[in-house]
Amino acid sequence: MKAIDRPDQIPFLWGVGRFPGSSDPYFVSQADMDRDVAGAARVIERLGAEAGEHVLFVSHFYEGCQFWPLERAAIERDVVISCAEANLMDAPRVEFFTRLLPLAAAVGVTADTLDGVEQLGLDLREVFDRPRVVLARPGAYERLRAAGVEARRIVALGPALVTECAAGELHVDGDEWDVVEHDGELVISGRGKRATDVASFGTGLRGRTLGTGTCGSPDPVVDIET
Ligand SMILES: [Zn+2]
Repeated sequence: MKAIDRPDQIPFLWGVGRFPGSSDPYFVSQADMDRDVAGAARVIERLGAEAGEHVLFVSHFYEGCQFWPLERAAIERDVVISCAEANLMDAPRVEFFTRLLPLAAAVGVTADTLDGVEQLGLDLREVFDRPRVVLARPGAYERLRAAGVEARRIVALGPALVTECAAGELHVDGDEWDVVEHDGELVISGRGKRATDVASFGTGLRGRTLGTGTCGSPDPVVDIET
């Protein structure tokens, strides 16, 4: 992966973030962002969130390059969004939103979120059964499942977020990203030119590619050992 180290060389820079497994800055242009929003629209559709419904996004500030496409796609669908930080300190806000809003989905719940909810003396199942769908990160997903919550997975595959559909399949934005398997590791490349050139980036995640899913989504499916 080769990052551009001179942001002033990027026309129409949208922002700079980072992603797991890389210490390089991750530059995103406005054109990158527009294409990522198109892929994110299919995620919101798979969540089943309709106009007028509410979705809560739980993310870190430095994950803006990955989460803003989802948030913008939701807004463009007239879904009402709320946001919380994915850390222990902001868990009370997550609990508050699950209690006060009829959430179609809570997206991005972390193990730190769960720790914070438990520190409030609350039961994980009581809190996370409230949203219609919960997309949880590795570490949170397993705990929610063990608590009896029908959580689905959301996993950072390098710079791309893969999300589980109702059929239990992990979908990647197939327009933007090409994922292959190399010696059991999932390796990701950008299909087109991005501000940060992502080429054959080893994600450190073990898994396999499964082709097209069964739910009707055009986005390809991967299996990740978490
Ligand atoms: Zn599917």
